[in-house]
Amino acid sequence: MWLTLTDSITLYHRIQDDYIAWADKTGGSVVELHAYCYKETEFPTQADLLATFEAELYEIVPSLRQAQMLHRQLVNQKNFAGFPPGSFAQRPETSTAVPNLIFAGDWVKMPFPCGLMERAVSSGLLAANTILQRQGVQRRPLLSVNPEGILKI
Ligand SMILES: Cc1cc2nc3c(=O)[nH]c(=O)nc-3n(C[C@H](O)[C@H](O)[C@H](O)COP(=O)(O)OP(=O)(O)OC[C@H]3O[C@@H](n4cnc5c(N)ncnc54)[C@H](O)[C@@H]3O)c2cc1C
Repeated sequence: MWLTLTDSITLYHRIQDDYIAWADKTGGSVVELHAYCYKETEFPTQADLLATFEAELYEIVPSLRQAQMLHRQLVNQKNFAGFPPGSFAQRPETSTAVPNLIFAGDWVKMPFPCGLMERAVSSGLLAANTILQRQGVQRRPLLSVNPEGILKI
């Protein structure tokens, strides 16, 4: 399946209390489709975005073709950092050539797979560990997935 826009789908009626309650009462579903970093030249209007999301929703969940759409809403925000494919190589690592310059944040190159808030927090812990190590103090453990198989960077 090749999706041109959608990068995640969330079934809110399974995870969030008010939507679970509404779904229990009505038998309905609350579905969110999400797209980071799409190109405006490919989807110049809101109608293009909605039409593509809807088509891709039916690709992902074919049984929803028969569902009655009660409401749909497009939230389009330009307040998000972009992490386009191929940007990994250009990102800084925790330590730099400058002794007292240490990076943390969701854009820092990490030695294991993580993203967004998880990356911000994990990179902060790595930065703190770097300082602790330089001070000769014990570093704290940092648990993550094993970077093996498809998760190998
Ligand atoms: C709308 C939206 C929804 C999101 N939803 C999710 C989600 O569901 N799950 C998830 O994991 N992540 C989500 N994120 C991403 C998440 O918010 C970020 O990955 C995370 O906040 C990054 O943390 P950070 O500490 O690297 O940077 P930030 O949180 O951006 O913090 C950087 C701070 O530095 C400050 N700053 C910038 N420049 C200067 C300067 N020159 N001097 C002093 N201070 C400065 C800024 O004001 C800011 O407070 C979302 C982001 C947005 C915008």
